[in-house]
Amino acid sequence: MPALVASAPGRVNLIGEHTDYNGGLCLPLALPQRTTFTLFPRSGPALSLSSAQEDSVWEGVVEDRPDGWPAYVAGVVQALRDDGHEVPGFEASVDSEVPLGAGLSSSAALECSAATALAALLGLDLADRGVRRRLATACIRAETDYVGAPTGGMDQTVAMLARPGHALLLDFADGSATPVELPLDEARLVLLVIDTRVSHALTDGSYGNRRNESADAARALGVSSLRVANQARVEELEDDVLRRRARHVVSENLRVLAAVGAIGDRDWDALADVLDASHTSMRDDFEISCRELDLAVESARAAGALGARMTGGGFGGSAVALVARKAVGRVQADVTKAFADAGLEEPAYLLAIPGDAARVESVASSAG
Ligand code: ADP
Ligand code: MG
Repeated sequence: MPALVASAPGRVNLIGEHTDYNGGLCLPLALPQRTTFTLFPRSGPALSLSSAQEDSVWEGVVEDRPDGWPAYVAGVVQALRDDGHEVPGFEASVDSEVPLGAGLSSSAALECSAATALAALLGLDLADRGVRRRLATACIRAETDYVGAPTGGMDQTVAMLARPGHALLLDFADGSATPVELPLDEARLVLLVIDTRVSHALTDGSYGNRRNESADAARALGVSSLRVANQARVEELEDDVLRRRARHVVSENLRVLAAVGAIGDRDWDALADVLDASHTSMRDDFEISCRELDLAVESARAAGALGARMTGGGFGGSAVALVARKAVGRVQADVTKAFADAGLEEPAYLLAIPGDAARVESVASSAG
C-alpha cells in the first residue's frame, strides 16, 4: 500500500489579534517550520496514530472521541466524513518542526497536514482554492467541535492558503484571503519570533472568555459583530471591561489596514509603529499579554528592534519583532539576557520567512 506524505506550516500572525471571531481582519504568514503527516491507508475504519512529539500510540475509531493530541486528527476525519467523504481507516505518523503550544499554531499545522494527506487519498484537487477553503473549514470544525478548543479560523485558513514570500490579509466579514507581498529581504529586515516558552495552554478558558466578552460588547452596542461597531459609540460604553475589549478589536482592525498600507509603501517605520501600538492595545485593553511577553517585546525594542508585539492568542506563547537583519544577533542576545536577569527560562527564536501552504510531499511505496 503506498504511503502518502503531506505537510502544513505553522504560522505567525503579523497583526490582527482576536479579530477573526469578531468578523475582522488579520495578517498572518506561514512559517518555514512545518508538520509532516505520513499516512498508510488501511482497510476498516480504525486509526493508528503516532507522533515524534508524543510518547503513546493511539488506536481506535473516530467515535471513541480520544482526548489529547489524537483528537486533532480524529476530528479532521470526522469533519471530512460529515462533508460526505468516505474516509477509510489509516495508520499515520506525525513529526513537527513547529513548537507545540507556542502560539505558532502547531494545532492547525497538524490538522491541515492530516487533511491534505486525506484529500490526496480521496483524489481531491488541491490546486483548487475552493477545495483548500473547504478543507480549512473542516479543520476549523475539527478543532472547535471535536477537540472542543474554540478557534476563530485564522490558523487553518493561512495554513491552507498561504503563499511563499507573502502574508495573507484575511477578512472574516466577507471571507476573502488576499496575498500581501512582504519584501523584507530587499529591505534587509527579518521577522524574529521570540518563543517565551510559557505555554498558553496553561490558562485554559481565557480565550473563550475574551470571545464571550466580545460578543457581550457587540450586544451592548447593538451590532451583529464588533467589525461594524462605531469607534465613538465604543467609547460611550458604560462597562469599563467591555469598552476596552471593543476598543481593542475596533482599533486592531484599523491597524491591520494601516500595516497593509505601510507594507505597500515600504514604510517599515510606520509598520513598526503599528506593531507597537497593537501590543499596547493587547496589553492594556484586551489584557491578553503576560510578564514574559511584555519583557520579550520591551527587551527586543531596547536592543534595536524597529517594533514588536505579542502574537497569537496570548497569555504566553510568542512575540514577533521587526528587526534589521544585521541586528538579529544582538537582539537575541539581549532578550536572552533580560530573561536570565528576570529569572525566566531561556526563550527560543526562529525567523519567520514567509513559507508555503499545506502540500503533498510525496506518494511513495512503503517498505512493508
Ligand atoms: P499551538 O497551536 O499554538 O501550538 P494549541 O494548544 O492550539 O497550541 O495546540 C497544541 C496541541 O496540538 C498540542 O498540545 C497537541 O495536542 C497538538 N499537537 C500539535 N502538534 C503536534 C504534534 N506534532 N504531535 C502531536 N500533537 C500535536
Ligand atoms: Mg492552536
